Amino acid sequence: MASARAPVMRNWQVMAGLFVPVIVSLLAIGVLALGFVMWSAQGVDERALERQMALARHVIARQLQNIPHDQESVTLWDDAVLNTKLSLNTTWVDDNLGLWMRDYFGHDDVIILDHRNQPVYAMLEGERASLDEASRAFVDVAPIAAELRLSIMSGAVDDYLNGRVSRAPRIAELATMNGVPSLVSIAPLISDTGAIVQGRGSEYLHIVAVRLDTDYAHRLAVEYQMPGARFTQRPSGDPEYAAIALSDTRGRFLTFFEWERSSPGQALFYQTIPAIAGAFLVAILIAFFLVNQLWRKSRDLEAGRADAEHRAAHDALTGLPNRVSFEQALARTLTQRPSRDRRTTVLMLDLDRFKQVNDTLGHRAGDDLIRAVAQRLGQLIGPSDMLARLGGDEFAIIHHHPPGLTGPLELAQRSIDAIGKPFDIFGSEAFVGVSVGLAPVEAGEIDAHELTRKADIALYEAKASGRNRAVVFEESMNEFLQNRKTIEGELREALRRTDQLSIAFQPLFDAHRKIVGAEALSRWHHPHRGQVSPAHFIPVAEATGLIEQLGALVLQRACEMGAKWPGYTIAVNISPAQLRNPDFPSTVFGMLRETGMRPADLELEITEGILLEEVSDAAEALRIFRAAGIKIALDDFGTGYSSLNYLKRYPVDRIKIDRSFVSQLAPGNVSVAIVQAMVTLAHALKIEVTAEGVETEGQRSVLLDLGCNVYQGYLLSPPIAPPALEQLLSRPQIRVA
Ligand code: C2E
Ligand code: MG
Ligand code: MG
Repeated sequence: MASARAPVMRNWQVMAGLFVPVIVSLLAIGVLALGFVMWSAQGVDERALERQMALARHVIARQLQNIPHDQESVTLWDDAVLNTKLSLNTTWVDDNLGLWMRDYFGHDDVIILDHRNQPVYAMLEGERASLDEASRAFVDVAPIAAELRLSIMSGAVDDYLNGRVSRAPRIAELATMNGVPSLVSIAPLISDTGAIVQGRGSEYLHIVAVRLDTDYAHRLAVEYQMPGARFTQRPSGDPEYAAIALSDTRGRFLTFFEWERSSPGQALFYQTIPAIAGAFLVAILIAFFLVNQLWRKSRDLEAGRADAEHRAAHDALTGLPNRVSFEQALARTLTQRPSRDRRTTVLMLDLDRFKQVNDTLGHRAGDDLIRAVAQRLGQLIGPSDMLARLGGDEFAIIHHHPPGLTGPLELAQRSIDAIGKPFDIFGSEAFVGVSVGLAPVEAGEIDAHELTRKADIALYEAKASGRNRAVVFEESMNEFLQNRKTIEGELREALRRTDQLSIAFQPLFDAHRKIVGAEALSRWHHPHRGQVSPAHFIPVAEATGLIEQLGALVLQRACEMGAKWPGYTIAVNISPAQLRNPDFPSTVFGMLRETGMRPADLELEITEGILLEEVSDAAEALRIFRAAGIKIALDDFGTGYSSLNYLKRYPVDRIKIDRSFVSQLAPGNVSVAIVQAMVTLAHALKIEVTAEGVETEGQRSVLLDLGCNVYQGYLLSPPIAPPALEQLLSRPQIRVA
């Protein structure tokens, strides 16, 4: 569980580790961008405000120009002089200078002053006013009028009339009129034609005022697009409004001119916000997408890594831990503190005759078989044990058990029993066996390699001593194997001498215990090691080519024996290496000729393997032998599935049922059925059957029931020296049922 969760946790950390900085940087960028936009918006607004204030001043200044301009249309006029100064025609004045100004130009107040600056006519807020009212209204602008009068007196009108200046004198100012801040313009009434000559300074003055009031503000607002424009004594303080202070020429405060300021920067800012927010959101989405992609990638990578890790540690075919994992686990076990009531033993298992199944049925069948084997073994091990596949048909178990070897030996036997049962492969039954080497962990043992090597040696021993069995490692095996290199030299030496190598004959009996022949078996009495098993030196001889010489020696002795005892079958084991030699048949026939043995008394024991090889020389040799009457026996027959098949292809005279089958024979055991099948098939093909390794009466009686032809085994006789055989052969045969 923990290991399954770990990558998920790590991935979340990766996700958070990536996403948080991305979001933080995006936020920082967002805040910076916003700050920048705000800052520049503010700058834009400040400049806009400056422009608006300049505009406002310009508007007021413009009004101060416009009013005198409007006023001039009536003050430069003969009729105006005539109708005021000559005799005041109030009606005419109303229509042309007073009320008319209100209607036409929107001027609020008009006052006409005589040559002494005394009001003679007044129109205030569109109504004719009394001269008293006019006097009160006029008070505030009296100094301006006095100033203009002064300039007229000093010849300003004359200068204009004489063309010395282009403009008639006039004064336009911001001032208070009738208590109201106003734009005030004062101009003299002058003859436009020059027909009416007035005494210098005697001109009447025409005062026009435009009140800075709501109406006027409204007009400005419309004309100059200054929304909310107003005149006020106290600015509102509203940040949305801008204001300028208006003062008269002497610097006295008159009023504030206020208007709704336009803030293009702010407007832009508010317009930009959705765009910025949108961009930010998109950026976050993209970041999220990218981080998510990254996370997925990293998760896939993580899964790939976990998968690769699993694959590196496990065998693809069976899903079992592989050699690397096995060695690691073993090393770990060995570093653990030894406990009193728990021991560990390594079991090495190697399938017997797996190669045949693989070769005949194909690799897929082989794979199926390996999987099935793995499954069977898996059911046998304890919860703390470890089953590994080391490769090929090799398995290993790290087995924890109470002190003593009973546990591991039982496990080994259970494995042998389980694997010995037939396998259903593609609808056919396949038989394999298993050999087991056991290496118990000794006190102080810490080297995993050494332990594996010991188990391997024990396995080798198990195979050598007949397969389908379990062997516990002993130090003597180690010595022997370590000296294996030297065996070659020693065997070479033994072949040169006559005192070390000999032949033993193991008698063969029929169903009535009547001796029918014997199998020649090599014996090597080593000066130091004592008896060395053929299982040990035959493979060395085969590997080094010494088998040719050794084989010739055995054949020689066997033929001598056979020649002496005609009518008895003498069986000789032939190695594949011998059979592959194209000269082999001539060696055999030479030997027969030399000794005078009858070919019909000679039986060559070959192993199944050679028949599987597509070596035509071997097949050809067998054909020649059979044609000459020499019998061919298939040794160690039975466990290879393939055997039954190629019996039809390569005719043989005898099969020798492997002793691993015979040793399991007991009523009710599955081996009975298997042997029964072999015997039935062999007999159907007119092939005789020999049972090897018959050790008990029970086995013999089962074999008798099954109809076996020939019996070989310790029960009847072990391999014996030639004189002992001859003694046996010379005895009158007693028939025993
Ligand atoms: P194999 O040809 O199957 O020989 C029978 C083996 O079974 C012999 O082992 C024999 O001692 C043993 N045996 C016989 N009866 C019993 C029994 O009741 N119980 C048990 N457990 N074993 C029994 P050995 O002599 O150790 O030979 C082992 C193998 O070495 C032979 O198996 C044969 O394959 C090979 N071998 C022996 N001599 C020669 C030889 O001269 N040339 C070649 N090429 N191979 C040989
Ligand atoms: Mg044999
Ligand atoms: Mg055999």
